[in-house]
Amino acid sequence: MNDFVSDVVKNMPAYLFSELNRKKKALQEKGVDVIDLGIGAPDLPTPEFIYDVLVKEAKHPANHRYSPYSGNQEFKEAVASFYKKHYGVELDSNTEVLTLVGTKEGIVNLIQAVINPGDTVLIPDPGYPVYRMGVHLAGGDAVSLPLDKQNSYVPQYDALTKSEREAAKLLFLNYPSNPTAATVELSTFTEAVDFAAKNNILLAHDAAYDLITFDTYKSPSVLQVPNAKDIAIEFGTLSKSYNMTGWRIGYVVGNKEIIQALATLKSNIDTSQFLPIQLAAAAALQSDHRTVRENSAIFKKRMEKLYNALAEMGMTAYKPKGTIFLWVDVPDGFTSAGFADKLLDELGIIVTPGTAFGPGGEGHFRISLSVSEERLDEVIKRMKNLAG
Ligand SMILES: *Cc1c(COP(=O)(O)O)cnc(C)c1O
Repeated sequence: MNDFVSDVVKNMPAYLFSELNRKKKALQEKGVDVIDLGIGAPDLPTPEFIYDVLVKEAKHPANHRYSPYSGNQEFKEAVASFYKKHYGVELDSNTEVLTLVGTKEGIVNLIQAVINPGDTVLIPDPGYPVYRMGVHLAGGDAVSLPLDKQNSYVPQYDALTKSEREAAKLLFLNYPSNPTAATVELSTFTEAVDFAAKNNILLAHDAAYDLITFDTYKSPSVLQVPNAKDIAIEFGTLSKSYNMTGWRIGYVVGNKEIIQALATLKSNIDTSQFLPIQLAAAAALQSDHRTVRENSAIFKKRMEKLYNALAEMGMTAYKPKGTIFLWVDVPDGFTSAGFADKLLDELGIIVTPGTAFGPGGEGHFRISLSVSEERLDEVIKRMKNLAG
């Protein structure tokens, strides 16, 4: 048979989580009770009021047709009104909001829509692996924007060389952050918008964990920075805040020329999302977010339990104000991959080695708090055995 597979696919590193899933299956087949703290998806169910709307809307034949390319008007208006109420940001639902089939899709297609082969993209390191993969697919050049603990995982633009700064066309940021769980105040975005404007770079902020925050902390939007719309867009998703990962529904907001370019590209690819899913997501965004606050409280309790237990074992984690993650220092004498392998092989616990998120993740691993407190007790018990 001919070799049909393109170079771009051949040269793609395997998507980390499919690899972890294979390992997990193999261990389970051997009878190991594997605890998976690897995958960054909430374990809680989608709130009932959301799927009630899905079921109701799915019964209308008019909703079985194609959605408008750029998305359903009601959903886009719900996004705009969420931004107004939650952030005090005005958006034109016709030109500054676009429905996405999940933000992973939107991120990869955004890169296709703005990057020519050879163009430079600045990506947070450590960061969500899809940015680097998307740049690879577009033939672009991914340059790491180093984030480190000493600087609370806030970008250090001075760490870039002058030629990297000059070559950059697109910059990704993500707060609250996957994988570090770092959060920022608006001043970080003011600085980012300033850096982007000075260097003529498009700023794309990924706000996947915008509502999963603890206590009084409120995560800002990049669009709260005056004139941010000139140079910035922001991605949002229902996946994490409403436990809707499988539904595939998100949005992008901000600069209208970029939104238009992405809409044009996407109209040739996916023809948007199933209308009842968009209508159910609209109901979620229009809600009082009580369910998100309840879920965040659950994640916070899990985080504190594990954070305190790790501290007792002499392990150091970054104490987060949001997300569903703990970012933990690897004990002395181990690499990230070596320690993650040890946890899996000896304890049947899956965590994600920091290097899965870029070279800057070396020395750390990520725990996803997506299991019950009872299972976390079991994790703690097993880890104490390892320590003792
Ligand atoms: C989970 C996640 C996404 C993807 O969300 P979907 O809308 O489900 O595609 C995007 N960015 C980050 C940082 C994430 O952790």
